[in-house]
Amino acid sequence: MPEEGQLRRDLCEIGRRMWLQGLVAATDGNFSVRLSEDRLLATPTGVNKGFMSPEEIVKIDLGGQPVEGFTRPSSEIRMHLAIYERRPDVCAVVHGHPPTATGFAAVRVPVPTEILTEAHTFLGPVAVVEYATPGSATLPQALARHVKEHNLFLLANHGAVAVGGDLFQASYRMEALEQSARIAITARLLGGAQAIEASELEKLQAIRGQLGLLPSEESCLAAGEACGGAAPDDEVLIARITSLVLDELQRQGR
Ligand SMILES: [Zn+2]
Repeated sequence: MPEEGQLRRDLCEIGRRMWLQGLVAATDGNFSVRLSEDRLLATPTGVNKGFMSPEEIVKIDLGGQPVEGFTRPSSEIRMHLAIYERRPDVCAVVHGHPPTATGFAAVRVPVPTEILTEAHTFLGPVAVVEYATPGSATLPQALARHVKEHNLFLLANHGAVAVGGDLFQASYRMEALEQSARIAITARLLGGAQAIEASELEKLQAIRGQLGLLPSEESCLAAGEACGGAAPDDEVLIARITSLVLDELQRQGR
């Protein structure tokens, strides 16, 4: 797995990218990553996530208590802990307030990923988590009810959470969620998206399974030399999807 210094720099880089894209504003948001079986690295509370330095990142135990560093994690870290406890395949959690997706969260409607081929394949269905006070013990409990089946969560009237095998996969899912939300609104303005046929959705779901994008019981820490090393980058994914589609076409004799 990446060494601690690299993970600290990655957290700062994710914060910079998310702030630049407007997915977090002011001191919004919090991110964390597994460092080992019993330690996490998390962003500090009360700072702008676009301008963090690696030494500000706080090392915590699985109870959320700081074990090293001069900063404190957000009270929302409890949400992250609830996810890590139930999803060994998750090595990173990213929480932000992406404006369009959070609009869907405010009306408590999931971003419809099933109207887009890639969103359906790479993101899967988005859960809407029941309203709960931020930082309270109720919010992680509400989120825990959905955590086994989803990689993206809208928190009612609050924001969004993305999980992944590593920090980059989690943050890409957050970016793609916001993009999908914008596209869904455009489609609505143009009269409503045409549905993808159920049989076609099934094929995309099969590809999703073949690419290892479904929640699993496998530990991300054991996935390889990199934490979340199982998460291939976009180009590798596209190449694999293309070859799966070509195989399918060949099978059908086209
Ligand atoms: Zn929040």
